[in-house]
Amino acid sequence: MKYKSPRGTRDIFGETALGLSLLEQKAKEIFIRHGFEEVRTPIFEDAALFTRSIGQTTDIVEKEMYVFEDRKGRKLALRPEGTVSLARAFIEHRMDISSPAGKFFYSGEMFRYERPQAGRYRQFRQIGAEIYANSSPAADAEIIILAQDVLSSFGIDKINIHINSLGCEKCRPLFREALVNYFSSVEDLCQDCVRRLERNPLRLLDCKVDSCKFTDFPKISNYRCSDCKDNFDTVRLLLKKANCNFTVNDKLVRGLDYYTRTVFEVRSDAVVSQDALAAGGRYDNLVKEIGGQNTPAVGFALGAERVFLAAQSAGFFENFKSPENFFVAIADQELFGEAFAFAVKATRDGINGNKDISVFGPINGKSLTNQLKFADKIQAAKTIVFAKTEFENGKVLVKNMKDKTQIEVELNNL
Ligand code: AMP
Repeated sequence: MKYKSPRGTRDIFGETALGLSLLEQKAKEIFIRHGFEEVRTPIFEDAALFTRSIGQTTDIVEKEMYVFEDRKGRKLALRPEGTVSLARAFIEHRMDISSPAGKFFYSGEMFRYERPQAGRYRQFRQIGAEIYANSSPAADAEIIILAQDVLSSFGIDKINIHINSLGCEKCRPLFREALVNYFSSVEDLCQDCVRRLERNPLRLLDCKVDSCKFTDFPKISNYRCSDCKDNFDTVRLLLKKANCNFTVNDKLVRGLDYYTRTVFEVRSDAVVSQDALAAGGRYDNLVKEIGGQNTPAVGFALGAERVFLAAQSAGFFENFKSPENFFVAIADQELFGEAFAFAVKATRDGINGNKDISVFGPINGKSLTNQLKFADKIQAAKTIVFAKTEFENGKVLVKNMKDKTQIEVELNNL
C-alpha cells in the first residue's frame, strides 16, 4: 500500500461513525437544554494564540502542536483544544464588551502530536462547553454536573470525578515556591520532571513516572487564600447538594496553564485508556491574557473517542438498532425503470409507512440469482422483486430473506 492515513489518525466507518454522531447529537440536546449556544471556530489559528495561553512549558505547546507556515509565511497551528479558540472568537466579536455573559458549546476535531494508543489519537474530537462572565462557584458546579449528565446520557455511570482548586494569582506563587523546595530534595526525578522543576513545578504532581515518589508533598489546601478556600468549599457544597459524587485530588493539576481555582477530571475504570474521559476547570485570566476585558470563565471538554469506548462497554449502542435493509430486484430487465422509480419513492416515503429503512438496488444487467446474492451480502431483511407477470397485475413479490418465503403484494400497498 502506497498511501496510509497518517499515524495517529484513522478512517471511521459504519457503526463507529454512527456512534460518534449519536454522541454528538445527544450532547447537543443536553447543552441546549442547559441554555448553551453552539459555536464553530476554525481548525487552525495563529500559533502564538495557543503558545501564549496554554503555556510555553506545557506538553501541548512544547511537544504536541502541529505548527506550519502558510504561503505568506504566517505561523499557524492546528488547534490542540477548543477553549482558547472560543476565547479568541469571544473577544474578536467584542462579546467581552457587548454581551459578556454567555454559555457556549462546540464539537470538533483537535490535533496533538501524542503517542497513539487506545482512545488516544493525533486527530481526535472534543465536545465541550464553556460559561463566560460568571465567577460564581455555582458555574463551576454546573459545568461539572453538565459533564456528568452528558456522560450519563450515554449510559456511562461508573465514573470518578476528581476535583481540586489550584488557587489564584495571590496564593498560587506561595504554593509553587513550597513545591520547588520540596521537589529539589527528591532524588531520582525523571528527565521531564527535572525540566518541569525549573519551568512549571506544578506539573510534577501529575507526572506518570514520578508521581508515586511524592508522598509528603506540600498540599495546595494549606496554601489557598481565604477567597479560594471559600470558593472551593462552595463548589463542593453545591456538588453535594446536587448529589454529585466526587473525590478531592490534591495531585490534580491539568496540563494547561490557563486554569485558576477549580480543575476537574472525569475518569472511568471501564475504559481501556487510563486517561480521563472529560476534563476542565475555571480560567478567569485567559480572556484578559489574550487581549480581552477581564472575563472569568469555566468549561470542560470530553474526548469523543474515549467516551465512545466507555459508552460501548456500557452497552449504550445496543439500544440503537440500525435500520432494516431492503433490496429492490428485477426478474425482468425491462422493469428496471419501474423498479428504479419505486426505490426512489421508497427512500423518500418509506415502505408501508416505515421510514426507518435503507433501500438498495435495483442493479441492472445482473441475473436474479446474482441480485439475490447481493441482497444476502448486505443482509437485506426483504427483497422486493419486480417480475413481469406479477407487475402486469399491479403486484410485486416480497421475499423474506431470512426464511426465504415469498408473497405477492399489491404495489400500491407498499
Ligand atoms: P484536555 O483538553 O487535555 O483537557 O483534554 C480533555 C479531554 O480530551 C480528555 O479528557 C480526553 O478525553 C480528550 N483528549 C485529549 N487528548 C486526546 C487525544 N490525543 N486523543 C483522544 N482524546 C483526547
